[in-house]
Amino acid sequence: MKIKVLTLFPRFYDSFVDTSIIKRAIGKGIVDFSSCDIRAYTKDKYRRVDAPPVGGGAGLIEQLQPIVDCLRANAGKNAHVVFFSPRGHIYKEEDAVRFSKMDELVLVCGHYEGVDERFLDYVDEEISIGDYVLTGGEIPAMAVADSVIRLLPGAISEDSLSDESFSNGLLEYPQYAEPYVYEGKSIPDILYSGNHEAIAKWRKKEALRLTRERRPDLFSAYSPSKQEMKLLRELDEGDEEPEWMKKALQKGRKFIKKG
Ligand code: SAM
Repeated sequence: MKIKVLTLFPRFYDSFVDTSIIKRAIGKGIVDFSSCDIRAYTKDKYRRVDAPPVGGGAGLIEQLQPIVDCLRANAGKNAHVVFFSPRGHIYKEEDAVRFSKMDELVLVCGHYEGVDERFLDYVDEEISIGDYVLTGGEIPAMAVADSVIRLLPGAISEDSLSDESFSNGLLEYPQYAEPYVYEGKSIPDILYSGNHEAIAKWRKKEALRLTRERRPDLFSAYSPSKQEMKLLRELDEGDEEPEWMKKALQKGRKFIKKG
């Protein structure tokens, strides 16, 4: 897959492409990532790319010519062009999944007070990463590129993706790493039971609990299975140790706890 970011600050991505999973994905040829300098396309003799807003007002507006020429020179015929703006639709994991199936994604960053409104005629969609205003589209473009690249086959293990927050409509369950006790806080015993079924049920129950508590919007859109309904009833009854957990805990005499 190709991802191109059109920006006035292409150096912004130097460390992005040189770090961790993104670096490896580029190295393995899973993604071809590049950042293109919009200013390189200006025809202004002073290399300007912006001008005051017509009709008056604060700040500067990016002019059409450099940004349109940069887009024409860099976007392939079938590229999907995204423009970042606080007015766009809020970016979600489902957008990352949709983008990860495309051949070429072009991410256009605005700066200053924004871009000449007529630029919207050249883009396929407008995306916001939240209800706040940033100085430019560089951070949104990095967030989108990162969320898309990690979904590309081979970028990270399939297992890491399967239970992740949003992948199945729920938030992820809590995760722990040794030692067993740290400053009086211990890892739930069930995770030492060796009973994979019991662990899976505990995790599902926690995912349901957390989603219901923290994201009622996600929870109301989720259709629980029969078994999940049972887990939700257990949560409502305050049954912290349902039968399956008691059994697992009895077996837990064999628990192996380090630390
Ligand atoms: N004047 C604009 C407004 O009030 O909507 C804000 C312009 S902002 C200072 C400059 C650029 O940053 C925008 O053109 C956009 O590309 C980017 N940007 C800022 N906040 C953003 C957000 N929440 N999501 C996506 N892009 C954003």
